[in-house]
Amino acid sequence: MSAPNKSYDPVEVEALKPEEIARMRDAAFAAFAAAGDLEALREAKVAHTGDRSPLALANREIGALPPHAKADAGKRVGGARGEVNRALKARQEELEAERDARVLVEEAVDVTLPHDRTPAGARHPLTTLMERIADVFTAMGYEVAEGPEVEAEWFNFDALNFPPDHPARAMQDTFFVQGAKTADTSSAAGKEDSGVVLRTHTSPVQIRAMLDRELPVYVICPGRTFRTDELDATHTPVFHQVELLAVDEGLTMADLKGTLDHMVQALFGEGMSTRLRPNFFPFTEPSAEMDMQCYVCRGESVGNPDRPCRTCGSEGWIELGGCGMVNPRVLTACGVDPEKYSGFAFGFGIERMLMFRHNVEDMRDMVEGDVRFTRPFGMEI
Ligand SMILES: [Zn+2]
Repeated sequence: MSAPNKSYDPVEVEALKPEEIARMRDAAFAAFAAAGDLEALREAKVAHTGDRSPLALANREIGALPPHAKADAGKRVGGARGEVNRALKARQEELEAERDARVLVEEAVDVTLPHDRTPAGARHPLTTLMERIADVFTAMGYEVAEGPEVEAEWFNFDALNFPPDHPARAMQDTFFVQGAKTADTSSAAGKEDSGVVLRTHTSPVQIRAMLDRELPVYVICPGRTFRTDELDATHTPVFHQVELLAVDEGLTMADLKGTLDHMVQALFGEGMSTRLRPNFFPFTEPSAEMDMQCYVCRGESVGNPDRPCRTCGSEGWIELGGCGMVNPRVLTACGVDPEKYSGFAFGFGIERMLMFRHNVEDMRDMVEGDVRFTRPFGMEI
């Protein structure tokens, strides 16, 4: 075995010459600096630090060198690889910081931009108005009472003192629900006999309130009611009523009148009043039609052709609904002693009130569910 070749000069191995190593290192530096993003840097990393990179290949040449030359060449190549790795790491951190900053900017949410969220809907004005009315009375200590829309004929008519032959019970006014025993549709008489109706007014809720509650009773009953009307500008087969019932000791027509006055003032403004005109209902005695003063002209259009009023037709009064003292027969039907207790009741249609309160001219607008109709009334809750 011959002695090591003392004259061997590692610089003569082309790939290990100092200037060649420096060139490889600088090429790596340049490639890293030129990498504009992390993807490009990954490619530069493979090219300049991978197994097939010039410095890695140069490193392999060292193994072939004689021992005394290995250290020198190893230091040179190792130093260069160290520098390259540090440069790579520095560039990597630089590009990551740039990416993070860009992401912050690109993904920032501009809260001042106009949004395209689904627009808020609106509550139906009938609901809003009914709740407003209920608020007026709950503030006075009344309870809101509800009852079924499919109602026994007894609650809807009998208990309210409608005689069996009262025209309101006729098929042309009332929806009778077909009973299980009378499913034979060929028998009109069978249908009438079912004893179950879609309630034609909210009055059955008053009967239920008197039967369910301890006296005295102060309830307001808002709800949906049904009659066999065709849908047109002024009629709808499904409509809404608010009824009120007070049963206590010593109630008189004066209490009724005061309550009505308070309601119209709460809903239409200070100073409003009501008037009563004699009428007849089976469930009240005496009974009256109630009118409220026109809240637009306050009566100034009456006999004044220069100031016509569309809301009241220059009558000065707007018809609101019916009222009266609860008929003693109704009290008796509900187990209330008419010698000791008296009561008053009134009821009116919400659709009608909405029409004159907001100049709605066609009832069909209220049932068609078009949000363009409800939206102007807003989201009042
Ligand atoms: Zn008027």
